[in-house]
Amino acid sequence: MPILVMKFGGTSVADLDRIRNAAEKVRAEVERGYNVIVIVSAMSGKTNELVGWVEGTSPLFDAREYDAVVSSGENVTAGLMALTLQEMDIPARSWQGWQVPVKTSSAHSSARIKEIPRAHIDQKFDEGMRVAVVAGFQGISSEGRITTLGRGGSDTTAVAFAAAFTAERCDIYTDVDGVYTTDPRITSKARKLDKIAFEEMLELASLGAKVLQTRSVELAMRYKVRLRVLSSFEPNTETSGTLVCDEEEIMESNVVSGVAHSRDEAKMTLVSVADRPGIAAAIFGPLADAGVNVDMIVQNISDDGRTDVTFSCPTDQVLRAERAVTEAKERGEINFLKLLSDNAVAKVSVVGIGMRSHAGVAAKMFKSLRDENINIKVISTSEIKISVLIERKYMELAVQALHDAFELEGNS
Ligand code: ADP
Ligand code: ASP
Ligand code: MG
Repeated sequence: MPILVMKFGGTSVADLDRIRNAAEKVRAEVERGYNVIVIVSAMSGKTNELVGWVEGTSPLFDAREYDAVVSSGENVTAGLMALTLQEMDIPARSWQGWQVPVKTSSAHSSARIKEIPRAHIDQKFDEGMRVAVVAGFQGISSEGRITTLGRGGSDTTAVAFAAAFTAERCDIYTDVDGVYTTDPRITSKARKLDKIAFEEMLELASLGAKVLQTRSVELAMRYKVRLRVLSSFEPNTETSGTLVCDEEEIMESNVVSGVAHSRDEAKMTLVSVADRPGIAAAIFGPLADAGVNVDMIVQNISDDGRTDVTFSCPTDQVLRAERAVTEAKERGEINFLKLLSDNAVAKVSVVGIGMRSHAGVAAKMFKSLRDENINIKVISTSEIKISVLIERKYMELAVQALHDAFELEGNS
């Protein structure tokens, strides 16, 4: 029988009624003749609560125990989903990550899936089971410890199962009915896209559009998984939602397809660094060793052999970054006058594969921010995106202005 993967996010399994609603969607696919692998998130708010408890124990907690605690939310929903399906007379069984086992790297709290052996679940399908419910977001390291895949990781679990089981499709059920031109919570003018190219979705996700975890899009692209995002609260047909697919499947693409934002950004500046060969390596080496994800980097023009180096990173890595550069200074590897941290910035980006062949996108973006009197602190570009760092209080305004400037509401 063909296999379908269906993933339900936190709001879609927030209580027993919602779990029943999700189970009805599973039942419909079983009745269509699919064997289904259901991937579940924790009930909405649960993971945040668990993370809060861990952080309450100590600011420098052991990541292995973090994973032991925060993975538990998914265990509850997996069991409840299997029970709900059984109540509907659908043969179903639940699996926690380690039981499959979902084998991952040992990078606790951001582990990568290495392998998903099919044997257990295939055997149960052969014996007549119709639905395998798997706890998302979690796996097991080669040391035998529970790991988690980073926030939003159940999306990645779903795509990885779809690849391992050569599923016909991977359907991501969530609280919006697809991928929009921008976060519909920020502007009601956001428009749902019927299709979006893998490359664009990858950029949007990595620039903050949390509707899909970045890694899940990477995996779908690599393993050619047909990936669809759709609502768990609306009736769906074969063509509902948004299909994430190859560029070739999209007839006409816009220069800019979407606007993404990321609220949790910080900007750090090393003031008056000696400008000499190797200085960038001396700064960014220790930051990398400390696990800081540096994003944008700017170095000012040198004056009298001194320069300012500015970079951005996620707000929750600021302490780690400060410690890494301060220790490098104490070891005499770098020398700077002072360290400035700005925690009140946000990143806003425009994304589109059409940018490859169109000039003028940056100019239009900067002009529209200027018209709103929004100051740009840092800029970075790639082939299909332009990002700016701005004051966080202007983030919504910037997203709305760019959405208007690139006419994303209208050009369907
Ligand atoms: P789930 O719990 O189902 O995994 P998430 O909260 O992780 O759901 O992701 C869905 C949310 O992503 C939406 O509610 C929406 O606010 C947000 N989002 C951000 N950018 C976009 C976008 N471009 N299109 C759709 N949703 C987006
Ligand atoms: N429950 C996890 C989180 O909130 C994983 C997920 O829902 O995808 O990040
Ligand atoms: Mg999510």
